[in-house]
Amino acid sequence: MSQDVLTPARINEIHKEAGRRRTFAVISHPDAGKSTLTEALALHAKVIGTAGASSGKANRKETVSDWMQMEKDRGISISSAALQFSYRDTVINLLDTPGHADFSEDTYRVLAAVDCAVMLVDAAKGLETQTMKLFEVCKQRNLPIITVINKWDRPGLDALALMDEITERTGLQPMPLTWAVGISGDFRGVWDLRNDRFARFQRNNAGAQIALTEYFTPEEAAESQGSNWTDAVDEAGLVIESNLEFDVDAFHAGKATPILFSSAALNFGVKELLDALVDFAPPAAPRPDVDGSPRPVESPFSGFVFKVQAGMNKAHRDHVAFIRVCSGVFERGMVVTQTRTGKSFATKYAQQVFGREREVIDEAYPGDVVGLVNASSLRVGDSLFLEDSVEYPAIPLFAPEHFQVARSKDPSKFKQFRRGIEQLEHEGVIQVLRSDVRGDQAPVLAAVGPMQFEVVEDRMAHDFSAPMRLERLPYSLARISTADAMPALANVPGAEVLLRSDGEYLALFNDVWALRRIEKNHPDLTLVPIGTHN
Ligand code: GDP
Repeated sequence: MSQDVLTPARINEIHKEAGRRRTFAVISHPDAGKSTLTEALALHAKVIGTAGASSGKANRKETVSDWMQMEKDRGISISSAALQFSYRDTVINLLDTPGHADFSEDTYRVLAAVDCAVMLVDAAKGLETQTMKLFEVCKQRNLPIITVINKWDRPGLDALALMDEITERTGLQPMPLTWAVGISGDFRGVWDLRNDRFARFQRNNAGAQIALTEYFTPEEAAESQGSNWTDAVDEAGLVIESNLEFDVDAFHAGKATPILFSSAALNFGVKELLDALVDFAPPAAPRPDVDGSPRPVESPFSGFVFKVQAGMNKAHRDHVAFIRVCSGVFERGMVVTQTRTGKSFATKYAQQVFGREREVIDEAYPGDVVGLVNASSLRVGDSLFLEDSVEYPAIPLFAPEHFQVARSKDPSKFKQFRRGIEQLEHEGVIQVLRSDVRGDQAPVLAAVGPMQFEVVEDRMAHDFSAPMRLERLPYSLARISTADAMPALANVPGAEVLLRSDGEYLALFNDVWALRRIEKNHPDLTLVPIGTHN
């Protein structure tokens, strides 16, 4: 059906479809169990028959979300795509995020495309560095967060101590939906507070299959579990006491966080997480454009690119742009307009991509993710629309902390070198900084994590036939500045000002002492921290 005929039935359908979407990402410190949980979620939705994630990274190299040779070598997941499945009457879109902190910028971008985040906490470690950084990004975006205390089958911290840590360090009020019965290391099941029942978990084939759950009344639980049950009720009671009752609005406003307990490896508590997502997580809602006015979900198709990935399929050297659908219905084959250039883009090759698995996608609704193949003209942050023009806010660039000068190894290949660097910049693989002093031949590459340089080196050599040399610069700190800082700091040791392609002047400093010294000597200069990541 053409989108220009917006019949009441069509509007209803789009509302219904957007309303049953739950689009989220799992954020965690590496090793908290994100990949294991992803597989457990998929298992519950019966996307894959048996979860293979229970025995560590070495055996996990072929899991659904790994694809690149580098990932295989290192056993980490670099790509970001979406896993879609139905659960109850909803469509769940789980956006994959890289596990390694070096690729955190990719994760930040994924957080621009979701409506909710699941913060996975290792019960033995509590909130870790990367959890906190990701939490800050969620806060800036006002993303509602569900907190899952994972690995409860292993000895760990005390549940109430974990709640205190969450309250103190994130400012979020914990609102238990489930509470562990049995201390960490002795995970018997959970008190399902909403239904006031004991969900007893039973191991099933070491977590490779959906855990068997049996339900009991509180009286039965008290009898069979003794003090494990009464302790759980008392502890959860202490948290609820200070919180009165479960408050969906406080969750959506980013003031409170639902709490669940799990063992992703044993598939315990995973169903409860899915139910929480269905019952409480926000559906795809009207998304504000660059001026802050929300575009109704029934408006003609629109979306934005949150991720560009090349080389996913080595045989085809392809280039996939991942779009989050914000309004209307995406129909494969439709010709959309790219807001930045005003050019049309044909969507003949639309796919749903997760890891190596691909499926042609014919239709997608708000909240869904579409991978557009052969999309080399699309950049991260680009908006696409049908009929009514829209521009969604740019996805902010994050504070780089590593800087290297790039030069072509073979001067006769400078054209390929320049094209490659430009392309990788558009894909968001690396930030590129320039100055007249350094010249065109030697741009400065800026990264949030050093492994980004390895990706650039690899891609330049293999995808662009332009091998390059990298030379490390001593800077470790960046501030947003202005054009006048460039001449002012031209000969100042320990600092340099370069222009980033988005038009921002970045002042780079060796360290915080260099920054302080320069702030003191040049009080007139504007030096603003970038986001919260410096
Ligand atoms: P990621 O780096 O966050 O993706 O973490 P992984 O999913 O790779 O998990 C890291 C390690 O913890 C692996 O060895 C998993 O098998 C293990 N693991 C994950 N979840 C659990 C859990 O709930 N209980 C236990 N005992 N181990 C877990």
